[in-house]
Amino acid sequence: MTNDTETTMDKITSLAKRRGFVFPGSDIYGGQAGVFDYGPHGVELLNNLKRLWWKANVYDKESVYGVDSGMFKHPRVWDASGHTSGFSDPLADCRECGARIRVDKELEAVGVTADEKMSEAEINKLFDAQRDKIVCPKCGQKDFTPARAFNLLVQSNLGDFTSEGGEPVYLPGEACQGIYLNYKNVVDTMSPKLPFGMAQIGKAFRNEISPRNWLFRTREFEQADTQTFVKPNENKDKFEQIKQERMDWYESIGINPDNLRFKQHDNLVFYASDAWDIEYNYPSLGWDELEGIHDRTDYDLKQHMEFSGTDLRYLDPETNERYIPWILETSVGLGRMFAAVMADAYVEEDLGEGKTRTVLKLHPDLAPYRVAVSPLLKNKPQLVEKAREVFTMLKSEFGNVAWDDNGNVGKRYRRQDEIGTPHCIVIDFETLGEENESLKDTVTVRDRDTGQQQRVAIDELTAYIK
Ligand code: ATP
Repeated sequence: MTNDTETTMDKITSLAKRRGFVFPGSDIYGGQAGVFDYGPHGVELLNNLKRLWWKANVYDKESVYGVDSGMFKHPRVWDASGHTSGFSDPLADCRECGARIRVDKELEAVGVTADEKMSEAEINKLFDAQRDKIVCPKCGQKDFTPARAFNLLVQSNLGDFTSEGGEPVYLPGEACQGIYLNYKNVVDTMSPKLPFGMAQIGKAFRNEISPRNWLFRTREFEQADTQTFVKPNENKDKFEQIKQERMDWYESIGINPDNLRFKQHDNLVFYASDAWDIEYNYPSLGWDELEGIHDRTDYDLKQHMEFSGTDLRYLDPETNERYIPWILETSVGLGRMFAAVMADAYVEEDLGEGKTRTVLKLHPDLAPYRVAVSPLLKNKPQLVEKAREVFTMLKSEFGNVAWDDNGNVGKRYRRQDEIGTPHCIVIDFETLGEENESLKDTVTVRDRDTGQQQRVAIDELTAYIK
Protein backbone atom coordinates (compact mmCIF):
# COMPACT_ATOMS: atom_id res chain seq x y z
CA MET A 1 0.00 0.00 0.00
CA THR A 2 1.36 3.44 -0.84
CA ASN A 3 1.13 5.94 1.94
CA ASP A 4 2.38 9.39 1.17
CA THR A 5 2.48 10.62 4.78
CA GLU A 6 3.19 9.06 8.16
CA THR A 7 0.24 7.38 9.83
CA THR A 8 -0.18 8.30 13.50
CA MET A 9 -2.53 6.99 16.15
CA ASP A 10 -4.04 10.51 16.39
CA LYS A 11 -4.97 10.47 12.70
CA ILE A 12 -6.68 7.09 13.05
CA THR A 13 -8.49 8.10 16.23
CA SER A 14 -9.79 11.29 14.70
CA LEU A 15 -10.92 9.56 11.47
CA ALA A 16 -12.62 6.91 13.61
CA LYS A 17 -14.57 9.57 15.48
CA ARG A 18 -15.32 11.76 12.45
CA ARG A 19 -16.63 8.83 10.39
CA GLY A 20 -18.69 7.07 13.06
CA PHE A 21 -16.37 4.16 13.87
CA VAL A 22 -15.40 4.70 17.52
CA PHE A 23 -16.46 7.32 20.06
CA PRO A 24 -15.11 7.94 23.58
CA GLY A 25 -17.35 6.17 26.12
CA SER A 26 -20.00 8.43 27.75
CA ASP A 27 -18.93 11.20 25.38
CA ILE A 28 -21.64 13.74 26.31
CA TYR A 29 -20.54 13.52 29.97
CA GLY A 30 -16.94 14.24 29.11
CA GLY A 31 -15.92 10.59 28.72
CA GLN A 32 -15.25 7.53 30.88
CA ALA A 33 -11.54 6.68 30.92
CA GLY A 34 -10.61 3.38 29.35
CA VAL A 35 -14.00 2.74 27.71
CA PHE A 36 -14.96 3.28 24.05
CA ASP A 37 -18.22 2.95 22.14
CA TYR A 38 -18.45 1.63 18.58
CA GLY A 39 -20.56 3.76 16.22
CA PRO A 40 -22.58 2.72 13.13
CA HIS A 41 -19.54 2.00 10.95
CA GLY A 42 -17.38 0.66 13.79
CA VAL A 43 -19.92 -1.92 14.86
CA GLU A 44 -20.07 -3.24 11.29
CA LEU A 45 -16.28 -3.57 11.08
CA LEU A 46 -16.22 -5.14 14.56
CA ASN A 47 -18.96 -7.63 13.66
CA ASN A 48 -17.16 -8.50 10.42
CA LEU A 49 -13.97 -9.19 12.37
CA LYS A 50 -15.86 -11.44 14.78
CA ARG A 51 -17.61 -13.21 11.90
CA LEU A 52 -14.35 -13.93 10.04
CA TRP A 53 -12.61 -14.97 13.28
CA TRP A 54 -15.49 -17.36 14.11
CA LYS A 55 -15.46 -18.76 10.59
CA ALA A 56 -11.72 -19.48 10.70
CA ASN A 57 -11.71 -20.85 14.25
CA VAL A 58 -15.02 -22.73 14.41
CA TYR A 59 -16.68 -23.32 11.01
CA ASP A 60 -13.50 -24.13 9.12
CA LYS A 61 -12.49 -26.66 11.80
CA GLU A 62 -13.89 -30.10 12.33
CA SER A 63 -14.19 -30.27 16.09
CA VAL A 64 -14.23 -26.86 17.66
CA TYR A 65 -17.23 -26.05 19.85
CA GLY A 66 -18.42 -22.52 20.53
CA VAL A 67 -19.74 -21.31 23.89
CA ASP A 68 -20.99 -18.03 25.30
CA SER A 69 -20.69 -18.08 29.07
CA GLY A 70 -22.26 -15.79 31.68
CA MET A 71 -20.04 -12.91 32.69
CA PHE A 72 -20.44 -13.32 36.44
CA LYS A 73 -18.81 -16.42 37.81
CA HIS A 74 -18.56 -18.19 41.13
CA PRO A 75 -16.03 -16.31 43.32
CA ARG A 76 -13.83 -19.46 43.61
CA VAL A 77 -13.20 -19.33 39.83
CA TRP A 78 -10.88 -16.35 40.26
CA ASP A 79 -9.07 -18.04 43.15
CA ALA A 80 -8.51 -21.14 41.01
CA SER A 81 -7.28 -19.07 38.06
CA GLY A 82 -4.85 -17.18 40.30
CA HIS A 83 -6.46 -13.80 39.60
CA THR A 84 -7.39 -12.89 43.19
CA SER A 85 -3.83 -13.41 44.36
CA GLY A 86 -1.62 -12.87 41.34
CA PHE A 87 -3.40 -10.77 38.71
CA SER A 88 -1.69 -7.50 39.35
CA ASP A 89 0.44 -4.79 37.82
CA PRO A 90 3.49 -3.38 39.63
CA LEU A 91 2.76 0.29 40.32
CA ALA A 92 4.77 3.11 41.82
CA ASP A 93 3.66 6.63 42.77
CA CYS A 94 5.58 9.79 41.94
CA ARG A 95 6.39 11.40 45.32
CA GLU A 96 6.36 14.83 43.72
CA CYS A 97 2.97 14.92 41.93
CA GLY A 98 1.22 11.64 42.85
CA ALA A 99 1.11 10.30 39.25
CA ARG A 100 1.16 6.49 38.99
CA ILE A 101 3.39 4.53 36.65
CA ARG A 102 3.42 0.85 35.62
CA VAL A 103 6.93 -0.13 36.54
CA ASP A 104 7.16 -3.17 34.21
CA LYS A 105 6.22 -1.03 31.18
CA GLU A 106 8.63 1.81 32.19
CA LEU A 107 11.42 -0.73 32.58
CA GLU A 108 10.65 -2.16 29.14
CA ALA A 109 10.81 1.37 27.71
CA VAL A 110 14.40 1.74 28.97
CA GLY A 111 15.36 -1.64 27.55
CA VAL A 112 15.05 -3.84 30.63
CA THR A 113 12.97 -6.99 30.30
CA ALA A 114 10.33 -7.00 33.02
CA ASP A 115 7.08 -8.81 33.44
CA GLU A 116 3.92 -8.15 35.44
CA LYS A 117 4.20 -11.72 36.73
CA MET A 118 7.48 -11.04 38.61
CA SER A 119 7.36 -10.78 42.39
CA GLU A 120 7.45 -7.36 44.09
CA ALA A 121 11.03 -8.04 45.26
CA GLU A 122 12.21 -9.04 41.76
CA ILE A 123 10.69 -6.01 40.10
CA ASN A 124 11.96 -3.60 42.78
CA LYS A 125 15.49 -4.89 42.27
CA LEU A 126 15.29 -4.03 38.56
CA PHE A 127 13.50 -0.75 39.31
CA ASP A 128 16.16 0.38 41.82
CA ALA A 129 18.89 -0.25 39.28
CA GLN A 130 17.15 1.96 36.67
CA ARG A 131 15.73 4.76 38.82
CA ASP A 132 17.97 7.44 37.29
CA LYS A 133 16.50 6.66 33.84
CA ILE A 134 12.78 6.55 34.68
CA VAL A 135 11.07 9.93 34.60
CA CYS A 136 7.57 10.82 35.79
CA PRO A 137 5.46 11.37 32.60
CA LYS A 138 3.52 14.14 34.40
CA CYS A 139 6.10 16.29 36.25
CA GLY A 140 9.46 15.02 34.97
CA GLN A 141 10.85 14.11 38.41
CA LYS A 142 12.52 10.78 39.25
CA ASP A 143 11.39 10.31 42.86
CA PHE A 144 9.12 7.27 43.07
CA THR A 145 7.82 5.02 45.88
CA PRO A 146 8.84 1.34 45.64
CA ALA A 147 6.72 -0.75 43.25
CA ARG A 148 3.78 -2.62 44.75
CA ALA A 149 1.27 -5.05 43.28
CA PHE A 150 -2.12 -3.56 42.32
CA ASN A 151 -4.86 -6.10 41.61
CA LEU A 152 -6.60 -5.61 38.27
CA LEU A 153 -9.86 -7.45 38.96
CA VAL A 154 -12.99 -5.27 38.90
CA GLN A 155 -15.35 -6.00 41.79
CA SER A 156 -19.13 -5.90 41.72
CA ASN A 157 -21.78 -6.14 44.44
CA LEU A 158 -23.85 -8.73 42.56
CA GLY A 159 -26.11 -10.60 44.96
CA ASP A 160 -24.88 -8.65 48.01
CA PHE A 161 -27.98 -7.01 49.48
CA THR A 162 -26.45 -6.32 52.88
CA SER A 163 -24.12 -3.47 51.85
CA GLU A 164 -21.71 -5.04 54.32
CA GLY A 165 -19.31 -6.11 51.67
CA GLY A 166 -19.93 -9.87 51.51
CA GLU A 167 -17.71 -11.96 49.31
CA PRO A 168 -17.09 -10.02 46.10
CA VAL A 169 -18.24 -11.32 42.73
CA TYR A 170 -15.88 -10.08 40.04
CA LEU A 171 -16.33 -9.01 36.47
CA PRO A 172 -14.27 -11.32 34.25
CA GLY A 173 -10.56 -10.44 34.20
CA GLU A 174 -10.28 -12.63 31.11
CA ALA A 175 -12.96 -14.27 28.99
CA CYS A 176 -11.37 -17.71 28.67
CA GLN A 177 -12.40 -18.88 32.14
CA GLY A 178 -15.89 -19.39 30.67
CA ILE A 179 -14.38 -22.06 28.40
CA TYR A 180 -12.74 -23.98 31.27
CA LEU A 181 -16.00 -23.86 33.24
CA ASN A 182 -17.88 -25.40 30.31
CA TYR A 183 -15.25 -27.92 29.28
CA LYS A 184 -17.00 -30.70 31.20
CA ASN A 185 -20.43 -29.74 29.84
CA VAL A 186 -19.07 -29.88 26.30
CA VAL A 187 -17.35 -33.23 26.88
CA ASP A 188 -20.56 -34.66 28.40
CA THR A 189 -22.89 -33.36 25.68
CA MET A 190 -20.76 -33.49 22.52
CA SER A 191 -18.50 -36.49 23.27
CA PRO A 192 -15.53 -34.94 21.45
CA LYS A 193 -12.34 -36.89 20.79
CA LEU A 194 -8.99 -35.34 21.62
CA PRO A 195 -7.66 -33.12 20.19
CA PHE A 196 -10.68 -30.81 20.11
CA GLY A 197 -11.20 -27.11 20.63
CA MET A 198 -13.53 -24.63 22.26
CA ALA A 199 -14.03 -21.02 21.20
CA GLN A 200 -15.60 -17.96 22.73
CA ILE A 201 -15.84 -14.24 22.19
CA GLY A 202 -16.50 -12.53 25.51
CA LYS A 203 -16.02 -9.37 27.53
CA ALA A 204 -13.17 -8.74 29.95
CA PHE A 205 -12.60 -5.96 32.47
CA ARG A 206 -9.31 -4.85 34.00
CA ASN A 207 -8.54 -2.01 36.36
CA GLU A 208 -5.74 -0.78 34.11
CA ILE A 209 -3.96 2.02 35.95
CA SER A 210 -3.36 4.09 32.84
CA PRO A 211 -5.61 3.15 29.94
CA ARG A 212 -3.99 4.58 26.80
CA ASN A 213 -3.29 4.33 23.10
CA TRP A 214 -6.94 4.37 22.08
CA LEU A 215 -8.32 0.79 21.86
CA PHE A 216 -4.97 -0.75 22.72
CA ARG A 217 -5.22 -0.57 26.51
CA THR A 218 -8.76 -0.14 27.79
CA ARG A 219 -10.56 -1.11 30.99
CA GLU A 220 -13.40 -2.88 29.21
CA PHE A 221 -12.71 -4.96 26.10
CA GLU A 222 -13.68 -8.10 24.24
CA GLN A 223 -11.47 -11.14 23.80
CA ALA A 224 -11.69 -13.84 21.15
CA ASP A 225 -10.26 -17.03 22.63
CA THR A 226 -9.66 -20.59 21.54
CA GLN A 227 -8.56 -23.40 23.82
CA THR A 228 -7.38 -26.59 22.16
CA PHE A 229 -7.41 -29.69 24.37
CA VAL A 230 -4.73 -32.26 23.56
CA LYS A 231 -3.42 -35.47 25.10
CA PRO A 232 -0.67 -34.88 27.70
CA ASN A 233 2.69 -34.31 26.01
CA GLU A 234 1.09 -34.16 22.56
CA ASN A 235 1.31 -30.40 22.52
CA LYS A 236 4.33 -29.38 20.46
CA ASP A 237 3.25 -29.99 16.84
CA LYS A 238 -0.28 -28.76 17.43
CA PHE A 239 1.09 -25.62 19.08
CA GLU A 240 3.25 -24.85 16.05
CA GLN A 241 0.29 -25.44 13.75
CA ILE A 242 -1.99 -23.13 15.75
CA LYS A 243 0.67 -20.40 15.93
CA GLN A 244 1.10 -20.41 12.16
CA GLU A 245 -2.64 -20.54 11.49
CA ARG A 246 -3.18 -17.46 13.61
CA MET A 247 -0.45 -15.54 11.78
CA ASP A 248 -1.82 -16.64 8.40
CA TRP A 249 -5.29 -15.50 9.40
CA TYR A 250 -4.12 -11.90 9.93
CA GLU A 251 -2.62 -11.93 6.46
CA SER A 252 -5.85 -13.41 5.06
CA ILE A 253 -7.83 -10.39 6.35
CA GLY A 254 -5.47 -8.06 4.53
CA ILE A 255 -2.89 -7.06 7.16
CA ASN A 256 0.52 -6.33 5.68
CA PRO A 257 2.87 -9.13 6.84
CA ASP A 258 5.66 -6.53 7.30
CA ASN A 259 3.63 -5.15 10.22
CA LEU A 260 3.29 -8.53 11.95
CA ARG A 261 5.84 -10.62 13.81
CA PHE A 262 6.14 -13.39 16.39
CA LYS A 263 7.77 -12.75 19.75
CA GLN A 264 8.56 -15.49 22.22
CA HIS A 265 8.15 -14.71 25.95
CA ASP A 266 11.43 -14.49 27.88
CA ASN A 267 9.84 -15.20 31.25
CA LEU A 268 7.41 -18.10 31.42
CA VAL A 269 4.96 -18.56 34.28
CA PHE A 270 5.93 -21.72 36.18
CA TYR A 271 3.32 -24.00 34.59
CA ALA A 272 3.66 -22.81 30.95
CA SER A 273 5.57 -24.85 28.43
CA ASP A 274 5.84 -22.10 25.81
CA ALA A 275 4.34 -18.65 25.13
CA TRP A 276 4.40 -16.38 22.09
CA ASP A 277 2.82 -13.10 21.10
CA ILE A 278 1.83 -12.01 17.65
CA GLU A 279 2.91 -8.39 17.62
CA TYR A 280 1.68 -5.60 15.36
CA ASN A 281 3.67 -2.50 14.53
CA TYR A 282 1.14 0.09 15.79
CA PRO A 283 1.54 3.69 14.60
CA SER A 284 2.98 6.01 17.30
CA LEU A 285 3.39 2.99 19.61
CA GLY A 286 5.61 0.55 17.74
CA TRP A 287 5.68 -3.23 18.07
CA ASP A 288 3.34 -4.50 20.79
CA GLU A 289 1.19 -7.48 21.64
CA LEU A 290 -1.82 -8.12 19.43
CA GLU A 291 -2.51 -11.73 20.38
CA GLY A 292 -1.14 -14.19 22.94
CA ILE A 293 -0.56 -17.88 22.08
CA HIS A 294 0.15 -20.03 25.10
CA ASP A 295 1.06 -23.66 25.71
CA ARG A 296 -0.41 -24.01 29.22
CA THR A 297 0.00 -27.74 30.06
CA ASP A 298 -2.71 -29.12 32.39
CA TYR A 299 -2.64 -26.13 34.75
CA ASP A 300 -6.09 -24.60 34.16
CA LEU A 301 -8.17 -27.75 34.38
CA LYS A 302 -6.07 -29.05 37.31
CA GLN A 303 -6.71 -25.84 39.23
CA HIS A 304 -10.46 -25.94 38.57
CA MET A 305 -10.61 -29.61 39.48
CA GLU A 306 -8.91 -28.86 42.80
CA PHE A 307 -10.95 -25.76 43.68
CA SER A 308 -14.35 -27.08 42.51
CA GLY A 309 -13.93 -30.67 43.66
CA THR A 310 -15.38 -31.80 40.29
CA ASP A 311 -13.56 -34.52 38.37
CA LEU A 312 -12.42 -32.89 35.14
CA ARG A 313 -10.38 -35.81 33.86
CA TYR A 314 -11.05 -36.97 30.31
CA LEU A 315 -11.97 -40.63 29.84
CA ASP A 316 -9.97 -41.79 26.84
CA PRO A 317 -12.41 -43.97 24.82
CA GLU A 318 -9.53 -45.96 23.28
CA THR A 319 -7.44 -46.76 26.35
CA ASN A 320 -10.02 -46.26 29.12
CA GLU A 321 -7.44 -44.09 30.91
CA ARG A 322 -8.45 -40.91 32.74
CA TYR A 323 -6.23 -37.85 32.48
CA ILE A 324 -6.36 -34.07 32.40
CA PRO A 325 -5.90 -32.77 28.85
CA TRP A 326 -3.29 -30.11 28.17
CA ILE A 327 -4.40 -26.76 26.81
CA LEU A 328 -3.13 -24.62 23.94
CA GLU A 329 -4.62 -21.14 24.08
CA THR A 330 -5.00 -18.26 21.65
CA SER A 331 -6.35 -14.98 22.97
CA VAL A 332 -6.76 -11.69 21.16
CA GLY A 333 -8.43 -8.44 22.18
CA LEU A 334 -10.95 -7.33 19.55
CA GLY A 335 -10.01 -3.69 20.24
CA ARG A 336 -6.34 -4.35 19.48
CA MET A 337 -7.39 -6.24 16.36
CA PHE A 338 -9.67 -3.37 15.31
CA ALA A 339 -6.89 -0.80 15.87
CA ALA A 340 -4.41 -2.89 13.86
CA VAL A 341 -6.86 -3.31 10.97
CA MET A 342 -7.70 0.42 10.89
CA ALA A 343 -4.03 1.42 11.07
CA ASP A 344 -3.04 -1.03 8.37
CA ALA A 345 -5.78 0.10 6.00
CA TYR A 346 -5.21 3.84 6.54
CA VAL A 347 -3.61 5.54 3.54
CA GLU A 348 -3.16 9.21 2.68
CA GLU A 349 -2.54 9.65 -1.04
CA ASP A 350 -1.07 12.70 -2.72
CA LEU A 351 -3.24 13.42 -5.77
CA GLY A 352 -1.02 16.27 -7.00
CA GLU A 353 -1.88 19.98 -7.19
CA GLY A 354 -1.98 20.15 -3.38
CA LYS A 355 -4.83 17.63 -3.18
CA THR A 356 -4.80 14.55 -0.97
CA ARG A 357 -7.29 11.81 -0.24
CA THR A 358 -7.59 9.59 2.81
CA VAL A 359 -8.64 6.02 2.10
CA LEU A 360 -9.30 3.04 4.35
CA LYS A 361 -8.17 0.17 2.13
CA LEU A 362 -10.07 -2.43 4.13
CA HIS A 363 -10.49 -6.01 2.92
CA PRO A 364 -13.97 -6.07 1.25
CA ASP A 365 -15.19 -8.67 3.78
CA LEU A 366 -14.33 -6.25 6.60
CA ALA A 367 -15.58 -2.97 5.16
CA PRO A 368 -18.68 -1.56 6.91
CA TYR A 369 -20.39 -1.26 3.51
CA ARG A 370 -19.85 -3.59 0.61
CA VAL A 371 -20.99 -0.92 -1.82
CA ALA A 372 -22.58 2.56 -1.86
CA VAL A 373 -25.32 3.55 -4.30
CA SER A 374 -26.23 7.09 -5.30
CA PRO A 375 -28.20 9.00 -7.91
CA LEU A 376 -26.07 11.54 -9.79
CA LEU A 377 -28.53 14.28 -8.76
CA LYS A 378 -30.90 13.93 -5.85
CA ASN A 379 -33.49 16.33 -7.26
CA LYS A 380 -34.14 14.30 -10.45
CA PRO A 381 -36.94 11.83 -9.62
CA GLN A 382 -36.12 9.41 -12.50
CA LEU A 383 -32.51 9.11 -11.33
CA VAL A 384 -33.58 8.64 -7.71
CA GLU A 385 -36.16 6.03 -8.67
CA LYS A 386 -33.67 4.00 -10.73
CA ALA A 387 -31.00 4.33 -8.00
CA ARG A 388 -33.53 3.10 -5.41
CA GLU A 389 -34.19 0.03 -7.58
CA VAL A 390 -30.47 -0.77 -7.74
CA PHE A 391 -30.07 -0.07 -4.02
CA THR A 392 -32.93 -2.44 -3.09
CA MET A 393 -31.61 -5.16 -5.36
CA LEU A 394 -28.07 -4.99 -3.90
CA LYS A 395 -29.33 -4.63 -0.34
CA SER A 396 -31.27 -7.86 -0.59
CA GLU A 397 -28.10 -9.56 -1.83
CA PHE A 398 -25.42 -8.03 0.44
CA GLY A 399 -27.26 -6.37 3.33
CA ASN A 400 -24.61 -3.79 4.12
CA VAL A 401 -25.22 -1.35 1.27
CA ALA A 402 -25.09 2.43 1.76
CA TRP A 403 -27.45 4.96 0.20
CA ASP A 404 -25.49 8.16 -0.26
CA ASP A 405 -26.97 11.25 -1.91
CA ASN A 406 -25.32 13.94 0.24
CA GLY A 407 -23.30 16.62 -1.53
CA ASN A 408 -21.82 16.22 -5.00
CA VAL A 409 -20.42 12.96 -6.35
CA GLY A 410 -16.81 13.95 -5.57
CA LYS A 411 -17.69 14.50 -1.91
CA ARG A 412 -19.51 11.16 -1.76
CA TYR A 413 -16.43 9.38 -3.11
CA ARG A 414 -14.21 11.08 -0.49
CA ARG A 415 -16.61 10.10 2.28
CA GLN A 416 -16.93 6.48 1.15
CA ASP A 417 -13.11 6.30 0.74
CA GLU A 418 -12.74 7.27 4.40
CA ILE A 419 -15.29 4.66 5.47
CA GLY A 420 -13.54 2.04 3.33
CA THR A 421 -16.40 1.21 0.92
CA PRO A 422 -14.79 -0.85 -1.89
CA HIS A 423 -17.20 0.28 -4.65
CA CYS A 424 -19.42 3.29 -5.33
CA ILE A 425 -22.20 3.04 -7.90
CA VAL A 426 -23.66 6.12 -9.55
CA ILE A 427 -26.89 6.13 -11.52
CA ASP A 428 -26.70 8.86 -14.19
CA PHE A 429 -28.53 9.98 -17.31
CA GLU A 430 -26.79 7.29 -19.35
CA THR A 431 -28.37 4.67 -17.09
CA LEU A 432 -31.74 6.00 -18.23
CA GLY A 433 -30.63 5.67 -21.86
CA GLU A 434 -31.17 9.37 -22.47
CA GLU A 435 -27.80 10.02 -24.11
CA ASN A 436 -26.84 6.72 -25.66
CA GLU A 437 -29.28 3.84 -25.98
CA SER A 438 -26.45 1.27 -25.75
CA LEU A 439 -25.59 2.46 -22.23
CA LYS A 440 -29.18 2.09 -20.96
CA ASP A 441 -29.33 0.09 -17.72
CA THR A 442 -25.60 0.38 -17.11
CA VAL A 443 -24.11 2.25 -14.13
CA THR A 444 -20.75 3.77 -13.18
CA VAL A 445 -18.83 1.65 -10.72
CA ARG A 446 -15.87 3.36 -9.06
CA ASP A 447 -13.11 1.34 -7.45
CA ARG A 448 -11.98 2.68 -4.05
CA ASP A 449 -8.31 1.76 -4.37
CA THR A 450 -7.58 2.83 -7.94
CA GLY A 451 -10.24 5.51 -8.29
CA GLN A 452 -11.00 4.06 -11.74
CA GLN A 453 -14.53 3.96 -13.10
CA GLN A 454 -16.18 1.34 -15.25
CA ARG A 455 -19.60 0.93 -16.87
CA VAL A 456 -21.31 -2.24 -15.67
CA ALA A 457 -24.77 -3.54 -16.65
CA ILE A 458 -27.23 -3.53 -13.73
CA ASP A 459 -27.97 -7.24 -14.13
CA GLU A 460 -24.24 -8.02 -13.84
CA LEU A 461 -23.65 -5.85 -10.77
CA THR A 462 -24.08 -8.54 -8.12
CA ALA A 463 -21.56 -10.84 -9.77
CA TYR A 464 -19.18 -7.92 -10.40
CA ILE A 465 -19.20 -6.86 -6.74
CA LYS A 466 -18.87 -10.40 -5.46
P1 ATP B 1 -0.46 -6.70 28.26
O1 ATP B 1 0.87 -7.33 28.62
O2 ATP B 1 -0.40 -5.82 27.04
O3 ATP B 1 -1.15 -6.06 29.43
P2 ATP B 1 -1.58 -9.31 28.60
O4 ATP B 1 -0.40 -10.16 28.30
O5 ATP B 1 -1.96 -9.05 30.00
O6 ATP B 1 -1.44 -7.90 27.81
P3 ATP B 1 -3.51 -11.31 28.06
O7 ATP B 1 -3.92 -11.42 29.47
O8 ATP B 1 -2.66 -12.40 27.47
O9 ATP B 1 -2.81 -9.89 27.81
O10 ATP B 1 -4.81 -11.08 27.18
C1 ATP B 1 -4.96 -11.60 25.87
C2 ATP B 1 -5.23 -10.47 24.88
O11 ATP B 1 -6.23 -9.58 25.36
C3 ATP B 1 -4.02 -9.59 24.60
O12 ATP B 1 -3.17 -10.18 23.65
C4 ATP B 1 -4.67 -8.34 24.09
O13 ATP B 1 -5.00 -8.45 22.71
C5 ATP B 1 -5.96 -8.26 24.88
N1 ATP B 1 -5.84 -7.32 26.01
C6 ATP B 1 -5.27 -7.54 27.21
N2 ATP B 1 -5.36 -6.46 28.00
C7 ATP B 1 -6.03 -5.52 27.27
C8 ATP B 1 -6.47 -4.18 27.53
N3 ATP B 1 -6.27 -3.61 28.71
N4 ATP B 1 -7.13 -3.53 26.55
C9 ATP B 1 -7.37 -4.10 25.36
N5 ATP B 1 -6.99 -5.35 25.06
C10 ATP B 1 -6.34 -6.07 25.99
